[in-house]
Amino acid sequence: MTSDDLCAISADWLKSLEVASSTGDVASFVSHFLSNGWIRDLLCFSWNFRSLSGPNEIHGFLSEVVDGKPRIEHSGLRDFKLDDHTVNAPAPFKLPGPQGIEGVQGAFTFSITQPAALGRGFFRLMQDVDGRWKALTLFTNMQDLVGHEESLADQHGLYEDRGITWEEDVDARFRAIEADPTVLIIGGGISGLMTAAQLRRLGIRALVIEKNARVGDSWRQRYPNLTLHTPADYSSMLYSPYPSTFPKYIPKGKLANFLDSYAVDHELCIWLSSRVQSTPVYDSSSARWTVEVQRGDQKVFISPKHMVLATGSGSPRIPTWNGMDEFQGALYHSDFHKDAEQFRGKHVVVVGAGNASADICQDFVAHGAAEVTMVQRSATCVVSSSAMEQAHFKSPFPDGTPIEEYDFRTNSMPLAFLLQVQKSGGEHMKMLDKELHEALSKVGFNLTWELSPGGGEVGFAEFLFKRLGGGTMLDIGCGKLIIQGKVKIKQGQDISHLDKDGITFKDGSKLSADVIVLATGNEPIMETARALLGNEITEQLPPEVWGLDSEGELNQIYRPSGHPGLWFAIGGFAISRFFSKHLGLQILARELDIA
Ligand SMILES: Cc1cc2nc3c(=O)[nH]c(=O)nc-3n(C[C@H](O)[C@H](O)[C@H](O)COP(=O)(O)OP(=O)(O)OC[C@H]3O[C@@H](n4cnc5c(N)ncnc54)[C@H](O)[C@@H]3O)c2cc1C
Repeated sequence: MTSDDLCAISADWLKSLEVASSTGDVASFVSHFLSNGWIRDLLCFSWNFRSLSGPNEIHGFLSEVVDGKPRIEHSGLRDFKLDDHTVNAPAPFKLPGPQGIEGVQGAFTFSITQPAALGRGFFRLMQDVDGRWKALTLFTNMQDLVGHEESLADQHGLYEDRGITWEEDVDARFRAIEADPTVLIIGGGISGLMTAAQLRRLGIRALVIEKNARVGDSWRQRYPNLTLHTPADYSSMLYSPYPSTFPKYIPKGKLANFLDSYAVDHELCIWLSSRVQSTPVYDSSSARWTVEVQRGDQKVFISPKHMVLATGSGSPRIPTWNGMDEFQGALYHSDFHKDAEQFRGKHVVVVGAGNASADICQDFVAHGAAEVTMVQRSATCVVSSSAMEQAHFKSPFPDGTPIEEYDFRTNSMPLAFLLQVQKSGGEHMKMLDKELHEALSKVGFNLTWELSPGGGEVGFAEFLFKRLGGGTMLDIGCGKLIIQGKVKIKQGQDISHLDKDGITFKDGSKLSADVIVLATGNEPIMETARALLGNEITEQLPPEVWGLDSEGELNQIYRPSGHPGLWFAIGGFAISRFFSKHLGLQILARELDIA
């Protein structure tokens, strides 16, 4: 097909969809989808994230009555304009898996009537049995509220006709935020920082409190040999790509320093060495929180309208076994791994076989431990970084295209559909890592693509969305050490108890150890929330933070949590980079009293 053909197919379909939308004709709108078609809507048709599949679900959603009108009419999406000249101009697409999932894809912009907003969409069209082009997926994404677009207009560099300096300007702004923050962000890791940067651009006063003494400390405090497992461009921070001098896999110290300067560059108002002191109280009549913050040695009360929990993953999960008190060596959770050098010449056992375990085993080998054994109770989903790059991190765009385009394209696919696609692409992933997998199996390492035994194979993303990455190893070197026997594998046995000099397994076998590291994962995020918010508020929330809801959207992340004025901002780089905008828009809409 020529590019004119692709544009004509896209333009015809889009024109017809626009007529259906602007006339509020639900049946006609739905007829633009395949019978297995999907819509993913982020804030355009409702103030939430929705993914719906098939004509009945889509019809039901768009015909719900909002303020006396069917939703489709109330939202009033119109002014559809095909993007026919950028990197998103209509093009063929082909999804991995069974033959035949291919067609034409493209992007468009549109306006929303209620609320007055601008949106951007993405479609994937395929031909139905009669040869008519219909949507396999349609993505509708709010970009900006009209009149409240992102802006740094105050950043022209000349303050009050040069009557005050930049420092004084920043200082005055920080004092205004501190006196009356609209949003309190708890946690200044990557998610908290990106959310704060986003809110600043939307003109919302946001104060971040971070328990550590320096921005980036949550990374500095992680184990010494840590580098990101995801490539730098994929792991960039909102609005701030890394300098070209940065390596592909960024070491944690370098990242930590970058985060420090990110906070300065984006002029984020952050209180360091600060934490919430007692359970925050929400007053529904004023729609404000009262939060007692311990800031260094000062006690401060603040009353934000919104509180964003950006406190990261849960606290360390520490199993209990008999004999833990008797063990005479060093015993600690992987979150506290710091210095492998002090255990040079020692026998090390790392319990668990995921990412943290792999990094820590590698660290012990590099620092001359006498023996390193990884205890793998069940099975792990292993993907090499090179396979991951080929299959998932490779941008479809020319070099230099902003990461925002990649984020838009990636998120244009409903997650539940993406999981199906990845599942069908499983054979391809296996083929990419065939040698690695065969060699690992040969030395007794147990591999899986199942979330639970017998549950059926899934793609890598399902481990991320359903288990926060638990049970996976994105291999950047430990696989080779396992194959070479430098990291030994103890497979398939539960631990019975600890003795003074090692571990005894339920089959009676024993491993001597001077050091035992528990790479056993983290408690659910909800438990961190409970510790911070108390039982009364936590029990008003759905039971899970993270994991997928019945439509395949992430539970409570960057969307309504179930409690007014309470939000969760948690996730890896890509999720926080993309969804911090949506959180900003939802908070802005509440401030404007339109949501
Ligand atoms: C070892 C390791 C390697 C990883 N590698 C990658 C990778 O390569 N790519 C990727 O995309 N993701 C990776 N991740 C996932 C990673 O957790 C996230 O990318 C990122 O750290 C999540 O950011 P966050 O801001 O949500 O949480 P965190 O980075 O954990 O930040 C939370 C912040 O909140 C602060 N805080 C917590 N509680 C309070 C409180 N009560 N009061 C005040 N402050 C508080 C903490 O001090 C911390 O600074 C990795 C995770 C780990 C543990």
